[in-house]
Amino acid sequence: MSAADAATLVAAHIGDVPDFPLPGILFKDLTPLFADGAALRQVVDALIAGQDGAGFDVVAGIEARGFVLAGAIAYATGVGMVPVRKAGKLPREALAESYALEYGEATLEVHAEGPMAGARVLVVDDVLATGGTVAATLRLVERAGGQVSGIAVVLELAGLGGRARLAPWPVAALLRV
Ligand code: AMP
Repeated sequence: MSAADAATLVAAHIGDVPDFPLPGILFKDLTPLFADGAALRQVVDALIAGQDGAGFDVVAGIEARGFVLAGAIAYATGVGMVPVRKAGKLPREALAESYALEYGEATLEVHAEGPMAGARVLVVDDVLATGGTVAATLRLVERAGGQVSGIAVVLELAGLGGRARLAPWPVAALLRV
């Protein structure tokens, strides 16, 4: 599937929900995409193709919608998956990074000891907004001993500066709006 076709497919399966979770936020809802098996498969394949052959040993998915995509990418490519979780969810010793969201503040965690040590890590989320979430994840990958191989998202909200904030890491987005 071409990049243009992937962008069209994504655009056709994302819903706009105004004023969620706060007034003034236009929430991009990917549940219609997740609900369509054929579209989901094509999007997962396009996310993998977007890495242009950059190798990765593990996929880090950001809670919660990133889990869906990362799990599918891990299955399709035969690598393992690491959950990047919200604070307090992981059962073993964890590394934590706090950051500001487009709406509010948050902390993400990964296990201090896990499969990212010495591994090339593909970081996956659904939506890139300000980039704070992915930036915190990149810090966690490095602190866990991993090397970021790439960043893959379905949708980039291009007006919010996330791509510039994450530079020099390239962001592979299927659709930019
Ligand atoms: P940010 O840290 O600002 O890049 O925000 C990215 C994270 O927040 C991702 O995990 C997204 O799922 C979520 N997010 C932020 N803004 C939106 C939005 N307008 N629509 C849907 N999800 C969003």
